[in-house]
Amino acid sequence: MQDLKAISRLFETRADFLTARPHGSGHINDTFCATYNQAGREIRLIHQRINSHVFRNPEALMENIDRVTRHSLARLVEAGHSEAHRRTLTLIPSCDGLPWARDAEGGYWRTFPFIEGALGYEEIENLRQAEEAAKAFGEFQKLAADLKGPRLHETIPDFHHTPKRLDALRAVLENAPKDRMERVGDDLEFAFSRAADARVITDLIASGDVPERVTHNDTKLSNVLLDEATSEGVCVIDLDTTMPGSVLYDFGDMVRTACPTTREDEVDLSVIDVRMDRFEALIRGYLAAASFLVPAEVEHLAFSGKLLALECGIRFLTDYLDGDHYFKTHRPGHNLDRCRAQFALVRAIEKRLPEMEDVVARTENK
Ligand code: ADP
Ligand code: MG
Ligand code: MG
Repeated sequence: MQDLKAISRLFETRADFLTARPHGSGHINDTFCATYNQAGREIRLIHQRINSHVFRNPEALMENIDRVTRHSLARLVEAGHSEAHRRTLTLIPSCDGLPWARDAEGGYWRTFPFIEGALGYEEIENLRQAEEAAKAFGEFQKLAADLKGPRLHETIPDFHHTPKRLDALRAVLENAPKDRMERVGDDLEFAFSRAADARVITDLIASGDVPERVTHNDTKLSNVLLDEATSEGVCVIDLDTTMPGSVLYDFGDMVRTACPTTREDEVDLSVIDVRMDRFEALIRGYLAAASFLVPAEVEHLAFSGKLLALECGIRFLTDYLDGDHYFKTHRPGHNLDRCRAQFALVRAIEKRLPEMEDVVARTENK
C-alpha cells in the first residue's frame, strides 16, 4: 500500500493528514480518499495516482485539466452559482505550485477536494440518471466552450478519427493469423461497407460546419457524480481525456454506452437493440444544457451513436486481428464478440434512425 501520508505532504492541503483508504471503482487510475483536520473541521480530499502506462504525457494532461477546471470554476462563480465548488473538479496545487506532484518512484499524483453527497454509478438504474448524466456532460461542455488561449494538448492524437481507425484495421490485415482471418470475412465486409459513415464527422470538422470544442471523451455514467438525495447531476469527473474534439463524440459515446438493451459483449445478436426511452432521456438532458450547439451538431446527434458504435467495433476487430494487445480479454474470441455486438448496435441504430431523429426534433422544439 502507498504511503499516503508522504503523498499528502507534497500538496498545499493547509490541513493535517489523518487517514486514507482506496476509493471508488475506477479502472484506470489509483484513487484514494484521505481525511484531514482543517482548523478543527474534518475534510476529505481525493489523491489520485495517474496511470502513466495509459497516459504517456501526464504533465500535458494535467495542464489541460488545470486550465479547464479553473475556467469552469470562474464561469460558475461569475454566474453566482451557490455551489460552484461542487459543480466542477478543482485542483489543489502541489507545494511547488504545480497541478501535480511526483512521488519517490517518479509517479504522478494530483489532489482534488472530495465532492461530498454525490455518487457515481456503474450501471444506469433509471431514466432520471440517464437524463441527469447527459445534462451534466452538456453543462461541462458549455462551461468549457469559451476557454481562451492556445488549443488544449491533444493527449491522445486522433482518438476519434474514425477514418484513421479504418486505416489501422486495414493495416493489421497483412500480418493477422490465418485462423483469425478466416473467421472475420463478414465483419470486415461490414466495417468497410460503412466507410462513408466513418468520414461524416471528420469531414464536417474539416469544412468548419462542426466546430472543434473542448470535449470529455469518456462520457460513461460512472464519470458523473449524481446527488445522493435528489439524483441531480452534480459534477463531471475523470477529465484525463479532456482535449479538442467534437461534442458529437461525447454524445455518441453516451448513446453507445447507455442505450443498448444488452451488455457490451452480448453474443445473441438478435436481442441487441436501442432502448428508445433511454435515448429520449439522454436527448432531453443534453439539449436542456447544451444551448451552444450549432445546427450541424444538433442534426447529427442521432447519427453520432451509430458512428461511435461503428468506431468501437472497428477497434475491437483490429485488436482481435492484432492478437488482443490493447483491450483486456476474458475468453477466447472476446474481442470478436465485442466487435459483433457493436456492429449489431450499428444496424439497430440504422433501423431506428428516423425514430431517433424524430425524438431530437420534438425535444428541440419544446
Ligand atoms: P478512473 O479513470 O480510474 O475511472 P476516476 O477519476 O473516474 O478514475 O475516479 C475513480 C472513482 O473515484 C470515481 O468513479 C469516483 O467514484 C471517485 N472520485 C474521483 N474523484 C472524486 C472526487 N473529486 N470526489 C468524490 N469522488 C471522486
Ligand atoms: Mg472513471
Ligand atoms: Mg478515466
